[in-house]
Amino acid sequence: MIVKPRIRGFICTTAHPTGCKANVDSQIEYVQNQGEVSAGELKNVLVLGCSGGYGLACRVVSAFACGANTLGVSFERLPAGNRTASAGWYNNIAFEQAASDKGLYAKSIDGDAFSDEVRQIVTDTIKADLGKIDLVVYSLASPVRPHPRTGVLHRSTIKPLGEAVDIKTVHVERGEVTQVNLDPATDAETADTIAVMGGEDWEFWMQALLQADVLAPGCKTVAFTYIGSDLTWPIYWEGTLGQAKLDLDRASRAIAENLRAIGGDSRVAVLKAIVSQASSAIPVVPLYVALLFKVMKEKGNHEDIISHIYRLFATQLKQGAKLRLDDEGRIRMDNIELSDDIQAEVKKRWPLVTTENLGELGDLSGFREDFLKIFGFGLAGVDYEVEVDPTLGRVD
Ligand code: NAD
Repeated sequence: MIVKPRIRGFICTTAHPTGCKANVDSQIEYVQNQGEVSAGELKNVLVLGCSGGYGLACRVVSAFACGANTLGVSFERLPAGNRTASAGWYNNIAFEQAASDKGLYAKSIDGDAFSDEVRQIVTDTIKADLGKIDLVVYSLASPVRPHPRTGVLHRSTIKPLGEAVDIKTVHVERGEVTQVNLDPATDAETADTIAVMGGEDWEFWMQALLQADVLAPGCKTVAFTYIGSDLTWPIYWEGTLGQAKLDLDRASRAIAENLRAIGGDSRVAVLKAIVSQASSAIPVVPLYVALLFKVMKEKGNHEDIISHIYRLFATQLKQGAKLRLDDEGRIRMDNIELSDDIQAEVKKRWPLVTTENLGELGDLSGFREDFLKIFGFGLAGVDYEVEVDPTLGRVD
């Protein structure tokens, strides 16, 4: 079949198999051109949320800059009839192929990472195939979490706290800059968001891995957070998501305490804003990202997902690295995004930006290109008029 993008709001319901492979391959090529980060330091890496966004980039850097075997977990939609699979399904296959071509072990487990069943499958797989893990990357982003112990289905909401917020945003498809009025979250909505995107599940994972004795001495774990500019604080850092991210900080401290027994450590890393399936769904953020990308590209210090994560590994996760930590002990990778000159320029443009001048002041086309790339569209060298088998011959 010929696969075209089919966009519904902030999601694309199709994914292009060849384009997804080209996207993974281009990340691998970037990393290989940058060179090795550390030889032999990371033997085995577990990536929770391995199939897209920051998790996929961590897996690529682990394998292709550190020579690590990787075990990944993600939740995918399989292809069926004339329906394509999720992009992550194609990404995992492309990654596994490239890693095995290099002689590296790479296995992806498709299932709900919030469940105890998947934790059991992962610990069994580590014991059978790898022995012990040196780094656990926790990069899940999900709108829902079925709680494995209570059975309650928690749904996250993206809302401000306390008072309603009237704030600028952009409709990504139409390119219209408008004001949006967001009602504040209830206490129950905030608690649900913490249950989905907070740190409890990360703690469950680290407890299970410790108990199963599959963590190597000195094992590290890292989870990701976003703080960003005060322009987005009303909807992000000071909203429901920010509360969940504070809970991630709490969890990190508790995990670090538990890992001390094996000489390990736990950190939250504050990453820069990029376009991902998760971030596209947050109101206001696409407008901020469009302005940010334009300014960072003009100043020549824009980083995409893979270059940002390469820098994380090369400067902060490498053994003996001098950590750039804030008062909460978080690794700060958002130093370029939050630098004075970048923020001053973004803040100058924020009140001025309108539908008419968005193309001049912001980089909405860059945002849209990155969004389509997530689903394998718009990749150089891919002929989108050629028929492809969405099952890749793997599913009846
Ligand atoms: P993403 O949507 O690109 O990737 C999420 C991954 O989680 C995918 O592999 C998906 O399959 C997996 N996943 C989701 N639910 C799952 C489940 N139930 N079981 C197994 N796998 C599941 O997300 P992202 O933007 O890369 O976000 C990853 C982390 O980085 C999040 O904590 C996010 O807050 C943080 N972060 C993102 C940004 C940004 O701008 N996107 C910035 C800073 C920090």
